[in-house]
Amino acid sequence: MIVKKAEHVITAVKPNQYPATGYPEIAFVGRSNVGKSSIINTLANRKNLARVGSTPGKTRQINFFNINDVFFLVDLPGYGFANVSKDLKASWENIIETYLYSRKENALKLIVLLVDIRHSPSKDDITMHQWLRGFGLNTLIIATKADKISRSQITPRLNDIKKVLQLGNDEKVIPFSAEKRIGIEAVWSEIDINLER
Ligand code: GDP
Repeated sequence: MIVKKAEHVITAVKPNQYPATGYPEIAFVGRSNVGKSSIINTLANRKNLARVGSTPGKTRQINFFNINDVFFLVDLPGYGFANVSKDLKASWENIIETYLYSRKENALKLIVLLVDIRHSPSKDDITMHQWLRGFGLNTLIIATKADKISRSQITPRLNDIKKVLQLGNDEKVIPFSAEKRIGIEAVWSEIDINLER
């Protein structure tokens, strides 16, 4: 897709703040600092659409970005931050869960779970992945920061991620780098396929 328009529409906490335009949605989730803002900016071809490097754990809102008046890229709050209170964690879970329940039947076409290519998925990543599966959502795993390892390490790292997340043979993990612009076409192709479902 050639991005002609990329626009922040709203920062929402409650479902009555979600856009009512009826566009399909592609949502992104992952632990804080995994590179979520960077991949959104890269796909949208904008430098500062989503805020990069914001203080981990501070964002508990959902940001909707209108792409070409065709669909929304949805930036869900990051998880896995240390030192947060139980109350905060519960409010985070509530925000994500409310979004998933509200959108899973219609608008939400694909949820992208981001993991860092350098590390085995964390306990939080595994929990998140199982949770998304439980919702019956189309899920795509993207391994971020692929420029941080050598080419020869990429396949072994992807295999490790697949193993830890217990992915089936037909489920892929796409290596991605915002820095070196790796994987952009592969991700767009998945987005396009899922928008047409
Ligand atoms: P978020 O918290 O998940 O939204 O993550 P950000 O997009 O803000 O990125 C967190 C940090 O990782 C920032 O310092 C980014 O510059 C860095 N980062 C993000 N993507 C990449 C990448 O593809 N390669 C490298 N080397 N660094 C990245």
